[in-house]
Amino acid sequence: MTIGKNLPPPFPRRIVPNKADLGDWSQLEPLFDLLDRAAPATASAMEEWLLDWNDLAAALAEEGSRRYVAMTCHTDDPACEKRFLHFIEEIEPRAKPRWQKLRTQYAALPAGRDLPRPRYFVLDRSIRNEVELFRPENVPLEKEEEKLCVEYQKLTGAMTVTFDGKERTLQQMAKYYDLIDRPLRRSAWGLVASRRLQDRQQLDDIFDRLLKLRQTQTQNAGCDDYRAYAFRRNERFDYGVKECEQFHAAVEKVVVPLHRRIQARRKKTLDLQPLRPWDLSVDPQGRPPLRPFQKAGQLVKGCTEILSRVHPEFGSLLAFLRQHSLLDLESRKGKAPGGYQAVLSEHRLPFIFMNAVGLQGDVSTLLHEAGHSVHSMECRQEPLLWYRQAGPEFAEVASMSMEHLGSDFYEVFYHAEEAKRARVKEVEEDIWLLCWIATVDAFQHWIYTHPGHRVEERQAAWLELHRRFGGIEDYSGYEDALKNGWHRQLHIFLYPFYYIEYGIALLGALQVWQAVQKDKAAGLAAFRRGL
Ligand SMILES: [Zn+2]
Repeated sequence: MTIGKNLPPPFPRRIVPNKADLGDWSQLEPLFDLLDRAAPATASAMEEWLLDWNDLAAALAEEGSRRYVAMTCHTDDPACEKRFLHFIEEIEPRAKPRWQKLRTQYAALPAGRDLPRPRYFVLDRSIRNEVELFRPENVPLEKEEEKLCVEYQKLTGAMTVTFDGKERTLQQMAKYYDLIDRPLRRSAWGLVASRRLQDRQQLDDIFDRLLKLRQTQTQNAGCDDYRAYAFRRNERFDYGVKECEQFHAAVEKVVVPLHRRIQARRKKTLDLQPLRPWDLSVDPQGRPPLRPFQKAGQLVKGCTEILSRVHPEFGSLLAFLRQHSLLDLESRKGKAPGGYQAVLSEHRLPFIFMNAVGLQGDVSTLLHEAGHSVHSMECRQEPLLWYRQAGPEFAEVASMSMEHLGSDFYEVFYHAEEAKRARVKEVEEDIWLLCWIATVDAFQHWIYTHPGHRVEERQAAWLELHRRFGGIEDYSGYEDALKNGWHRQLHIFLYPFYYIEYGIALLGALQVWQAVQKDKAAGLAAFRRGL
C-alpha cells in the first residue's frame, strides 16, 4: 500500500528545498552546513535558528517514518527493506553527529541563556543532556543495534504455523485461545509455543549481541552500568531506580494477590485442576468468544462511533485517516507484528499500524492508537517538533485513557451483556498487565546489572520473577516455553527499559477514566488540556 494519499499540504518548509531527495546525503549535507554557519547572537535570532533546525529535523523524521512504515507493512518486500536500511545505514549515521554538533553549538551559545525559560526549559534540558551523553564512537554501535533489531523483527515476523488447514501468523493464532474446545486451545497454544522455541537460539544470540553493543556504549559514555545510561537516555529526570523498585514492590503486594484471586475464581468456574496457560483467555462461563467485527472496515466504523460518543470531535479522526490511506489494520503474512502509531512530522499527521484479526483486543488496540493520534492532532499547531511529542510516560496516558473512555461505549459492537463482559475482561487485563510490566521491568533491571551473565542464568532470573509476579497457571511439560517467555516481548529487544512507562501511564489513564465518570465535561476538558 502507499502511505498517505491526497494528504493536505505539509506545513511550508523554511530551509529544505521542496524537491530535495532526503535519501541522498549530498543534498542534506549543505543544509547542515547552513545551520552550522548561522551562529545566532540574540535570543530572537536563536528562536529563528531553532525553527530552521526544526525544519530539517521534521523533514528527515518524516522520511524515516515513511520508510519504516513501508518496511513493517511489507516485511517480505526486499525493496522496502533496502530503502529502510539505506536510511539507517547511510543517512542516520551521518546525520547523528551533525545533530550533535548543532546541540553542542546550542549549548555553547551565550544567547541560549536569554531564551524565555518557561517556553524553552524542557527543550534546553533535553539538548544539554544529550550533549553530555553523546560519544561519536557510539554512533556505529547504535547502527549495529538497529540492524539487529531489524533481524529480530524479520525472525518473529516470519513465524507462522499450519493450523486448522491453513498457514497462520502467530498473531492470527490468538483467536484460538478463547475457544471453548479445550483440546483445540491446547494444541493451538502448544503449536505456537513450539514454533517460538524453534528460534530460541537465534533469539538468544541476537539478544547477546545487543547486550554487548549496549555494554560498550555504556563504557564509552562513562556510565556505571547500562541501566544508568538508559535512564538518562530515556530522559527520566523525574524518577529513578528506587521509584521503579517501589512500583515492583507495590505491584507484588497489592496487584499480584488480586490477579491470583481472579485466576482462582476462573479455575473454579471452569472446574479445572490445574489451570493451564491455554485456559487464561476463554470465557469462564463457556460463552462463545466475542467477535466484534470481521473486516477492518467494520472495525473502523465501530471505533469511529465510539470515539464520537467519547467526544464529537474525536469521531471524525478515523474517517479522515482512512480517507488519506493512513491506516494499515489487517493482519497478513509479510507484515511485522504488533501495533504502533507513527507520525509524518512534516504533514503533522499520524499513521496507524496494527494486525487486526477480529478480536475484542483489536478494538482496544485501535482505540489505543487512536488516542495517540488524537494527541498528535491536538499538538498539530505546535511549531516545534520537540514539543509535538510528549515523553512516553505521558504519551501512553493519551492512548490508554482512550481505551478506557471508549470501553464505556462497547455497546456499539455488542449487546449490553457482552459489552459488560468485555469491560470486565479488560479491567482484569489491566490487573494482569501491571503484573507483567513489573516482570518485564524487573527483568531488565536484572539483565543490565548482571553483565556477562549466561543464557541459563538469564532464564533462572526470568523464572524467579515469574514466581514473584506471575499467576497460578501450571506450565508442567512446557518449562522451556515458560523460561523463554520473554522472547516474545519485543520491547526487551528493541527498546531497552521502555516498559515501566506503560505502568506509569496506566495509573494515569485509570485516573482520567475515573475523573470522566465523575464529571464528563470537566474530566474531558482536563484531559484535552493535558494533551
Ligand atoms: Zn501506545
